[in-house]
Amino acid sequence: MSEKNIFEKIIDGELPCIKIYEDDHVLAFLDIHPVNPGHTLVIPKHSSTDIFDMPVEVYTRMHQTVHALAPQIMRAVQADGINIIMNNKAPAGQVVFHPHVHIVPRFIGDELQHWGGNEYASPNESATIAQQIINEINGATPMQ
Ligand code: 5GP
Repeated sequence: MSEKNIFEKIIDGELPCIKIYEDDHVLAFLDIHPVNPGHTLVIPKHSSTDIFDMPVEVYTRMHQTVHALAPQIMRAVQADGINIIMNNKAPAGQVVFHPHVHIVPRFIGDELQHWGGNEYASPNESATIAQQIINEINGATPMQ
């Protein structure tokens, strides 16, 4: 069995966290390095790595919790907005390899930068990429 990562140790009570919510399926706690006050992580207790190996039920339960907590966090810290973020795999910024959703309160004037948008090189490029994605969808098992 491989070494437990930080969030698995938190789930098992081997590392502390500032817990704000827990049930049989999920745990929510404050991020140790908050982008803004109230920055919360919601994690499933199910053992997985990212969106790609999570059963859909686990993913859904995690996001149900995010949906419930977001307005409560928003009110608690009197935020003006909320970002919901999930990083999947290292190139996307994932550092802890247990699934987690960031709930990041936002405040007018907090000066956090959003990522910038680019342009497709041509209509042909966007059409080709859309078709590649549609081909993957058509080759997949239909959603239940
Ligand atoms: P990622 O980049 O993987 O999406 O985000 C991982 C997050 O976990 C980071 O925002 C980081 O601050 C947070 N984090 C890392 N280690 C700990 C820890 O031991 N306790 C808590 N509460 N948060 C952690």
